[in-house]
Amino acid sequence: MFRLANSIKQRTITALLLLAIAIPFSPPAAAQAQALLPRAAAPKASPAPAKPKLVVLLVVDQMRGDYVDKFLGQWTGGLRRLVEEGAWFRDAAFPYAATETCVGHATISTGAFPATHGMVANAWWDRKDQKMVTCTADPDPSVKNTGYAGATPKGADTAWRMAVPSFAEELKFQTSGATRIVTFSLKARAALTMAGHKADAATWFDGGAWVTSSPYGTLPFIEEQAKSHPAKADFGKTWSLSLPESAYWYGEKALGAVPPDGWDLTFPHPLRGKTGVGEPDGAFYEQWASSPYADTALTELAEKAVDALNLGKAAGTDFLAVSYSSVDYVGHEFGPRSREIQDILIRLDKDLGNLFAHLDKKVGRGNYVVALSADHGVVPIPEDMQKTGADAGVLHLPELQERIEKAVEPFNYAKPAVARISGSDIYFAPGVYDKLQQDRAALQAVLDAALAQPGVAAIYRAEELRDRPATPQSSNQSPAHRAFANSYFPGRSGDLFILPKPYWLLDGTPIGKQRSYGTGHGVPYNYDQHVPVLLMGFGIQPGQYFQPITPADIAPTFAALCGITLSSRDGHPLAEALKKPAEPRAPAQTP
Ligand SMILES: [Zn+2]
Repeated sequence: MFRLANSIKQRTITALLLLAIAIPFSPPAAAQAQALLPRAAAPKASPAPAKPKLVVLLVVDQMRGDYVDKFLGQWTGGLRRLVEEGAWFRDAAFPYAATETCVGHATISTGAFPATHGMVANAWWDRKDQKMVTCTADPDPSVKNTGYAGATPKGADTAWRMAVPSFAEELKFQTSGATRIVTFSLKARAALTMAGHKADAATWFDGGAWVTSSPYGTLPFIEEQAKSHPAKADFGKTWSLSLPESAYWYGEKALGAVPPDGWDLTFPHPLRGKTGVGEPDGAFYEQWASSPYADTALTELAEKAVDALNLGKAAGTDFLAVSYSSVDYVGHEFGPRSREIQDILIRLDKDLGNLFAHLDKKVGRGNYVVALSADHGVVPIPEDMQKTGADAGVLHLPELQERIEKAVEPFNYAKPAVARISGSDIYFAPGVYDKLQQDRAALQAVLDAALAQPGVAAIYRAEELRDRPATPQSSNQSPAHRAFANSYFPGRSGDLFILPKPYWLLDGTPIGKQRSYGTGHGVPYNYDQHVPVLLMGFGIQPGQYFQPITPADIAPTFAALCGITLSSRDGHPLAEALKKPAEPRAPAQTP
């Protein structure tokens, strides 16, 4: 359709141009042409395409794609506006296995898959140092986390492990350098991956304080906001249902839910810490992070950034990103089938409505482009899913580890043979996997033992994943196999990979301990992979789009609007949602 329309348009333009060029050389014909042509057809120097003044990236941590379909009718604010005024991609999914926070944010930020950007998990086993490292832990001794309002955070976090630049970094680097980059989240792995390796500000929340780290800038307006203690100021507030009880889809108590300390399974949820009296404690900050109040605090920070820096008013295209973390905490605690999830989205919809109204006022409607997506979805709480009679359960990783140790016992391997199982990745002790690859009987014993663990559907080996398929269509691999290949980054990924059965939760709780959360994510099934992708504003053609896309397409779409090039071709511009240049008016008919 578009191609046909475009080629007709192309021919019309060419014909008009040819006519126009011919004019100076044949004056009698010129008069005739003048009568035939409307004024608009006169040749003009074409200016460079306009650029958005501000790019806004919003990530809602753990927001499943189907939440939009389910709850849209109850939204009246920003989420509704994104659907009504924007482009809604209804079949967007991460095409890889490691559906975790750091991975999803890095994918959205860079337009690349984890096999390219290298952020393969929130944390992985460092083979050299024989310890777990988080995706943002920076070993450079000159790097230090720094706190606003006098806070003294621990650690050193940056995006140094991200193997390609973020869209925001590329934008600043490739244009005049006037781009300001500002990101906010409750989580370091979200704020840092969205920003990139350096930024004007990349701010997150740690132990009751707003923090950043030394390679990133600090800004006076954040200091001012931090001094007003937006979290502490919410101490004593209560999270109650926003709508009448009859408006909620699910029962009062989510089956298998594990609420934060000091909270019951039922509304209302008081933000009063563990004991309900006294000063804000660790439990209070956990409650706050699991409440709509944290989303509101992030929204206020974003609005203050727009005001303080005059974002969207300077020479370059500015970049503002917010990752809303609370839906993720609530989802882990109460599961996707909970009143808490439904209600926190109603509240987030209002916050986003306020944010867009602020951007309209300060930057101008149509001058900014916004994308909203999520870093991953979530699986229903296994105990809840079992109610349906479906095959669902908990895949207990420490048990799986014991089975593997037992399996290699007869083959004379040093103990322990397994260094770590982290999520779906099994890491062997140094030298063990090399030996196993030469030792077919022992490897088969390991695979048989792993496959015998309840909930295991398949085990993939690193050597099966190393060569990514050239195109998604060219491979005869299963979708799960391809998904693991898209996640595989040599050196960081495991030696073996566990594919659970659908609706089986990968659980690392030590043997003999109670699971301290309701549910999780991190596997290549649609409930973890399918997320919303919504675009709105500058250059965006509103509508509903059903073709399958990935959130890695967001950064290339921004890049297309800003006229820059990203290094990776994993993602592609969402051309169908980009506004086409206005059609030239048909030549007026001679009377
Ligand atoms: Zn997440």
